[in-house]
Amino acid sequence: MDYRTFLIKYGEIAIKGKNRYLFEDALVRRIRHALLKVEGSFTVRKEQGRIFVDCEGYYDFDETVSALQKVFGIVGICPVVVTDDHGFEQLAKEVVSYMGEVYPNQELTFKVDARRARKNYPKTSMEINADLGEAVLDAFPNMKVDVHHPQVMLSVEIRERIYIYSTILPGAGGMPVGTNGKAMLLLSGGIDSPVAGYMIAKRGVEIDAVYFHAPPYTSDRAKQKVVDLAKIVAQYSGPIRLHVVNFTDIQLYIYEKCPHEELTIIMRRYMMRIAEHFAQENNCLGLITGESIGQVASQTMQSLAATNDVCTLPVYRPLIGFDKQEIVDVSVKIDAYETSILPFEDCCTIFVAKHPVTKPNLNVIRRSEEKLSEKIDELVKTAIETTEVVTVE
Ligand code: ATP
Ligand code: MG
Repeated sequence: MDYRTFLIKYGEIAIKGKNRYLFEDALVRRIRHALLKVEGSFTVRKEQGRIFVDCEGYYDFDETVSALQKVFGIVGICPVVVTDDHGFEQLAKEVVSYMGEVYPNQELTFKVDARRARKNYPKTSMEINADLGEAVLDAFPNMKVDVHHPQVMLSVEIRERIYIYSTILPGAGGMPVGTNGKAMLLLSGGIDSPVAGYMIAKRGVEIDAVYFHAPPYTSDRAKQKVVDLAKIVAQYSGPIRLHVVNFTDIQLYIYEKCPHEELTIIMRRYMMRIAEHFAQENNCLGLITGESIGQVASQTMQSLAATNDVCTLPVYRPLIGFDKQEIVDVSVKIDAYETSILPFEDCCTIFVAKHPVTKPNLNVIRRSEEKLSEKIDELVKTAIETTEVVTVE
């Protein structure tokens, strides 16, 4: 079947009034943006609680669907046949030829689900259901009606034009990016943080990111890996401004002045402070990390409290209750896993102590940080000033 139009279904229940049109407009923008990368000429239009994508000339069906499946806010993608209203006889013919082409010689049960957005149509929905059902039964002896559990739900929507479809390909769900502000993702080269970014973007939040590297202890390839992960998240979230912070001097200074078992916690506190600086500067309403309770020493409840202590913005940790395998499953689903497991060094693991504290005491940590007072402000200032911003699409 040569489909020329997709009907886009989105969650309609939760969105009413003014929010509804903001949601729809954002969704239309996100769809247009996602289709820019796909070869072909597409028109996205909004009509009476529906969004349609029209395809002109050559386009690749699978590529188009897979681009649409990355747009948050879409719950279903229906390839539709569109026809004009030339009377009911003609419609019945088109419906029969649709069923013949999509399900050739198939033994199946079906049900017709007609909707009239145009109330002046000469038949009621019930009549359309019955009469189209009969036309299909007459044409295909193999097909039977089952109104309770049909294998095929044949939808016929009568609007200005008439839309026939029976396939709903699953969408990504969530809310269109841009409907819920922006947040700053602490993005490392691991498995967890790209998943965390994906999950928050799914709720309609725009994403910026910050990555701390420690050259020459961490390589350019480690940095490239983070850029690649940002690109993967950006397929869902839209463009990401990635801040690459040179963290080496701060790490070396902490290493020189503070007890080594507290190094990771103190380092994480400086990461949060710097991330928060860029968050404020870019109108972000929160920070995002890939932390999950108890996963490593720096993610015990005490450690999370110690890290959180330096933040004034809310810190969103969407993986907080996830087991590692559950995180891996999402990572695989969003195609980040293969990149995440590439074996490059991470600034957190290079300076890590053999026996890091697992239950840091906040007062002790604060006192250790006082030992940094001579140079730390200057080092943080320099790190911020020398930060490189890369926009990834
Ligand atoms: P991930 O798999 O995301 O790297 P992790 O299991 O390695 O996480 P940690 O190294 O303790 O855990 O990091 C916890 C969180 O801190 C990460 O999920 C990420 O949000 C942030 N983070 C850690 N290292 C960096 C870094 N070098 N740059 C930016 N953010 C980082
Ligand atoms: Mg990590």
